[in-house]
Order: sequence, then structure tokens, then C-alpha cells
Amino acid sequence: MGTTTVRTQVGIVGAGPAGLLLSHLLHLQRIESVVMETRSRAYCEGRVRAGVLEQGTVDLLIQSGVGERLQREGLKHDGIWLSFGGTRHFINMTELTGGKSITVYAQHEVITDLIKARLDAAGQILFGVQDVTIHDFGGDKSENPAPTIRFRQDGELFELRCDFIAGCDGSHGVCRPSIPDGVIKTYEKVYPFAWLGILAEAPPTSDELVYALHERGFALFSMRTPKITRLYLQCCPDENIANWPDERIWKELLLRLSSRNEGTHDAWVPATGAIIQKGITPMRSFVAEPMQFGRLFLAGDSAHIVPPTGAKGLNLAAADVQILAKGLAEFYSSGAKNTLNDYSRTCLRRVWKAQRFSWWMTTMLHRDEDASEFDHRRQLAELDYLIGSRAAMTSLAENYVGLPMD
Ligand SMILES: Cc1cc2nc3c(=O)[nH]c(=O)nc-3n(C[C@H](O)[C@H](O)[C@H](O)COP(=O)(O)OP(=O)(O)OC[C@H]3O[C@@H](n4cnc5c(N)ncnc54)[C@H](O)[C@@H]3O)c2cc1C
Repeated sequence: MGTTTVRTQVGIVGAGPAGLLLSHLLHLQRIESVVMETRSRAYCEGRVRAGVLEQGTVDLLIQSGVGERLQREGLKHDGIWLSFGGTRHFINMTELTGGKSITVYAQHEVITDLIKARLDAAGQILFGVQDVTIHDFGGDKSENPAPTIRFRQDGELFELRCDFIAGCDGSHGVCRPSIPDGVIKTYEKVYPFAWLGILAEAPPTSDELVYALHERGFALFSMRTPKITRLYLQCCPDENIANWPDERIWKELLLRLSSRNEGTHDAWVPATGAIIQKGITPMRSFVAEPMQFGRLFLAGDSAHIVPPTGAKGLNLAAADVQILAKGLAEFYSSGAKNTLNDYSRTCLRRVWKAQRFSWWMTTMLHRDEDASEFDHRRQLAELDYLIGSRAAMTSLAENYVGLPMD
């Protein structure tokens, strides 16, 4: 069987937030791209993951013309509650950051909006492709062969020739492992806990997210819509979800989140309801350096993973592709490569700050069974210091709403 060869400017592997947003931003700069994705459109639009958008991500989506539904349906939040020792404490992030906030809008809704925008603009997203491999991306001179993505669709072989490849294929994709050995250095930290997350048909009983440290471990109350709550509880990384029937999940969540259980004044309790989705997510920090090799650029989870406590994964993906789109636009309009050459360095400065924040939130709010009683007391002292110091609260707030791009 023959191979069909097609040509584009930027070949994008992966239709997650990074790949789709990059394709959209390039389109606004009149740069052509093709996105290829192993999963179906329905799978991508239904995959439940993150939901907290930083101020900068919201601004980017609105300014680039894909924020209409986000503005209508997204839930803007001015702060978070920290719950420990039986009491909830409010951190007003909007006040502490001069008016910034975060917006809760589910990742799969962002995906749905981006896919619609690309297809409405006759953009090319190839869903359900197989056997994706990337080639000839190492040299960055024009005399080198063009970077090529080979893949199969409906049994037919294709070869996509492009000027650049964007590896937006997540943590288990093919792009990062295709870079020759010795080029990339990786940094990893695996945490001794995971998150059991649920979506429940239960109206949110708090306007703001509640992060709780209980002696039985971490719990998080958040929401997706005025009728749906999203809740998480700390569990073991090797936990079997079959051991968690709905009653056990609710019992544990109520114990860890309800401040009334420990005799406090506000007697807050989350509402319970039918659990419509549940799953376990392990927690790790990971960074690959550099994020570029020749004419291949890694963006989002393909280059870095953060534990979800700081709500940074999706936001980092958006920040990476904003910089990459700027570099590519500069290259196609003037031939200048300054921003492209600096892509990795620019992204990594911010990535490492987000790693630090996500690690800090994670270690402050989770109970490590192997830690000493001294460590547990220190954790409580850290939280106590935090809620009593405007400087400490400001530091949390400015990281949570998102650090500046540069
Ligand atoms: C299970 C899970 C739960 C999460 N929950 C939270 C959360 O609660 N809060 C939070 O802040 N963050 C969460 N995250 C992190 C956040 O969702 C990610 O940081 C974000 O999705 C990164 O976007 P991305 O586009 O880089 O990667 P992805 O969203 O992973 O997208 C990569 C895309 O590439 C596709 N792909 C993979 N391999 C190939 C291939 N060979 N060829 C073509 N396509 C390919 C994949 O199917 C996928 O669509 C979660 C992540 C996961 C995995």
C-alpha cells in the first residue's frame, strides 16, 4: 500500500489543551497546522481532568476569541478556604493580588470550545490516528530534510511534512521518547499518595474551594457547575478503586471536610449526592530539560507534570503554547528565531516556579504516614503561620492565580 504525503507548516501531535490551543493561536497568526490525535473527538470532549483556570489562562482564552462560553458558564472565584484543626480560614486572593481571580471551568469544556473553534475555521484535527512516529526533526537548518510525522488512519499510511513539530502528546506520548538519548535530562519526584476524585450530583454548599488537612489526610471540595461538585481525597498510590464503594467515599469526605465534626463555629458540610464518575490519579512532579530539540518543541504534560494540588497542569500547558505560538509567529513574519531559540529557557523558568508551588501545597496539605509527629506538628504550624501573615497569604495568592508570563 502507498503512502500519502501531505504538507503543513506546524505538525501538532496531541489534541489536549496544549495542542488545540496552539493550533488555534497559530491560526490567528495565519500559520497552518495539522493536529493528530489517537483518541476520538467524543473521548477528548468527555475526558474529566482539571478545572481551575488561572487569570492569565482566562485572559488568553477570551482575548483569542474562545472565551464566550467560559465567560457565561465559568465560575469566578475570589479566594480559597483552608481547613485544618477543625476551622476554616478564608484567603481572599482577589484582594491580595490587586483584583486577580481564578475561574472554575472544566478542562473538557475548554477542549470542546477549542475543537469547535478549529473546525468552524476549517482547521484540521485528525482524530483516531494510529502508529504515530516522528522523524528528521533534529537539524534546524533549512538544508536538512523536513521534519516528518508518519501515522496511519483508517488503515492508510500518511506522511505529514512540516517546518516544525509540536509535541503536545501528554506524559505518555511518542515525542519526548523520540529525542535521542543524552539530549534530555529529567527530574522527578514521586509522592507517597494519590487522589481519589469524584464528580457528584450535589449542589456546591460553599462558594469557594475548600482545601483541608485532616489527621486522616487531605481532602478538597470544588465544583464544576451549580449542580455538580468535584471532590478529592488523599489515598494510597496503589489503592484499588473497587475498595471504595460510594458510601465509604462519602463517609471519608465528610469526616475530612466537615468542620462541624471538630466542633467549630461555622458547621460547614458538603452536600452529598449520586457519584457519576470516580478515579484515582497518582501524584508526581516531573520536568524534562530542555523542552526543544532541533525543530521539535515539547509543550504541556509531554515536558512536565505537576501534582494537582496547585491546579497548574492545564495552565502550564496554556502558558507553554502561548510562548511557542509567539515564537513561531515571529519566525514566519520576519525569519527571526530569538523567541523560538529561547522557548525552553523562557518556559522552564515559570515551570520550575509552578513546580515549587505545587510541591509546597502538596507537602503542606497531605499527611505522609512515614513522616514523624514532628513533621505533622510543623505542617500545622506552617498553616497557622500562613493564615496569620499577610505576606505568606499574598505569596500563596499570587502563585495560585498565576505568575506573570515572563
Ligand atoms: C487522569 C488525570 C487527571 C488530572 N486531573 C487534574 C486535576 O484534577 N487538576 C489539575 O489541575 N490537573 C489535572 N490533571 C493535569 C491536566 O489535566 C494536564 O496538565 C493537562 O491535560 C495537560 O494538557 P496537555 O495538552 O499537555 O496534555 P494532555 O491533556 O494529556 O493531552 C495530550 C493528548 O495527546 C494525545 N496523545 C497521546 N499520545 C499520542 C500519540 N502517540 N499520537 C497522537 N496523540 C497522542 C492524548 O490522547 C491526549 O489527547 C490531570 C491529568 C490526568 C492525566
